[in-house]
Amino acid sequence: MFKIGVLTSGGDAPGMNAAVMSVAKSAALYGIPLVGIKRGYNGLLRKSASLYDDMEELRLDTVLDIADLPGTYLRTARCKEFMEPKWREFAANTLREMGIGGLVVIGGDGSFHGAEFLCQLGIPCIGIPGTIDNDLPYTELTLGYDTAVNVCVDAIRAIRATSRSHDRPHVVEVMGRHCGDIALTAAVSTGAEIVIVPEVRWSVEDVAQRLNRQLNKGNTRATIVVAEGCWEAMEPFDMYNFLNSHGKKCFEGEPISANRFASILKRMCGMVEVRSTVVGYTQRGETPSARDSAFAFEAGHLAVRLLRDGISNQVIGMHNGKVFYQSIGEALQTKREFRRGLYDLVNNM
Ligand code: ADP
Repeated sequence: MFKIGVLTSGGDAPGMNAAVMSVAKSAALYGIPLVGIKRGYNGLLRKSASLYDDMEELRLDTVLDIADLPGTYLRTARCKEFMEPKWREFAANTLREMGIGGLVVIGGDGSFHGAEFLCQLGIPCIGIPGTIDNDLPYTELTLGYDTAVNVCVDAIRAIRATSRSHDRPHVVEVMGRHCGDIALTAAVSTGAEIVIVPEVRWSVEDVAQRLNRQLNKGNTRATIVVAEGCWEAMEPFDMYNFLNSHGKKCFEGEPISANRFASILKRMCGMVEVRSTVVGYTQRGETPSARDSAFAFEAGHLAVRLLRDGISNQVIGMHNGKVFYQSIGEALQTKREFRRGLYDLVNNM
């Protein structure tokens, strides 16, 4: 029987370890030896001094210990070389030399592109969506998203409690790169008054007006949830002149941030204080939620079954609460539908 390889690639996401554990359990069930490849595609390029730094035979007892741990035991990294055909051929040859006849790739769309190339080079691959951003439209859930949202919800609830105590509106920045799903779901779940996402153009003046309306209603704890990618969708605003003419030092060309945005809102709305918090890496390093762990478990098992049955070039997803698979090419072409109705509901109430 051939061996199976498994790797985690791109940004880490809660649930990646649970998926690796499930792959290991399923491989053991079918008597298929399993190799863990370290640091994404880098492990296939044999760049490390020792083979163990690039690959490790994954024993079930090692893996059973990691399922509920955050982070990724296999480590993850981006791999620039993998964008070049010659390195992808090198990787495919490494896999063949090691007797690895199928690969499970846990990562986001970039990692799936890499997997598709490996399939073309004759290496059967199955993708499992692992990214907190939820930016893979073919599936309604990606590993880590549910956990990340829950981290944000906990953070925003705590912030709103202290915001109420001090009458201080708060800007909370959450992750998600170019996708506003974490921000939107966290805002809906916490009753935040304003949400700003990369999918919708917005202006500083408009947000200040909406914040003012909240303040006039006596809501001094209003929360503005911003997605990390939202700054790119901002209408031009002369932050340098505005802040300097309102007594706050700012250097020309300095990029806007949650902190700067809070300073602007404070001055536009005449508040004593508007604070900001960036939730940051706690969203990625949290223990996976039950939903993420359960999805990881099902996805890992299906991935091994597909490889065992000679089915390749597929990604696993969730639709209407059920796990399914689809070709990588088709999945990557699925267009994203932004939940505009939900966005309007948050911002118009
Ligand atoms: P994610 O998988 O989370 O989207 P990246 O976009 O950073 O994260 O991709 C992770 C890795 O996948 C990259 O470092 C690279 O090794 C590989 N990759 C990304 N895009 C491609 C591509 N178009 N062709 C081949 N490999 C790719």
